[in-house]
Order: sequence, then C-alpha cells, then structure tokens
Amino acid sequence: MLLIKCPICDCEGDETDFHYGGEGHIQRPTSSNPDKVGDEAQRDYLYVRKNPRGLHSERWLCERGCGKWFHALRDTATMVISKTYLITDKPPAELKKAGKK
Ligand SMILES: [Zn+2]
Repeated sequence: MLLIKCPICDCEGDETDFHYGGEGHIQRPTSSNPDKVGDEAQRDYLYVRKNPRGLHSERWLCERGCGKWFHALRDTATMVISKTYLITDKPPAELKKAGKK
C-alpha cells in the first residue's frame, strides 16, 4: 500500500484515493502538429518510458480531495513516496542526483 499526501490540499490516503498518471516530467514535442514532429520524437513522447529501480517521478491525481494533478517522488524498490510537489515544479534535486531527469 502506498501512502500519499496531496501537496495542494493536504489530503492523505492510500493509492485508492488517488489516480496514477504515469511517469512525471514527460517532455512534449516542440510542435503540436504531428506532421512536424519526427517519428522517433513522436514515438518517444507517446510510448517510451523509464522503468528505474530507485527514485522515480510520477504523476498522481487527487481524486478524493482537490481533483488536481501533482508529482510524487517514489522509490520503486521500497514503494516509499518521499516527496510530493506541484505539477509545475521542476524535478527535485534528489531525482537529478539519482541520475534521472
Ligand atoms: Zn488534493
């Protein structure tokens, strides 16, 4: 069971109170027109995801509370969420230190 705390409304709960939204900090292609984006860039944006052992940034939706998206920093080996932060925040220093974006 994951214990999660929303950084926006301070709502706390397990993963059933929230909705998982995939990897955090996915960069969109520079153009919103798919015809102007190369096949590799389009493939990477849509399908390629990291699967690290250790610190990993994820998006979560606060379903029971404010209904907003936020980021969580989770260790995939221990399942412990060490930090939650706003969706507009840049990746935290500890994630960069662990060698991830
Ligand atoms: Zn919330």
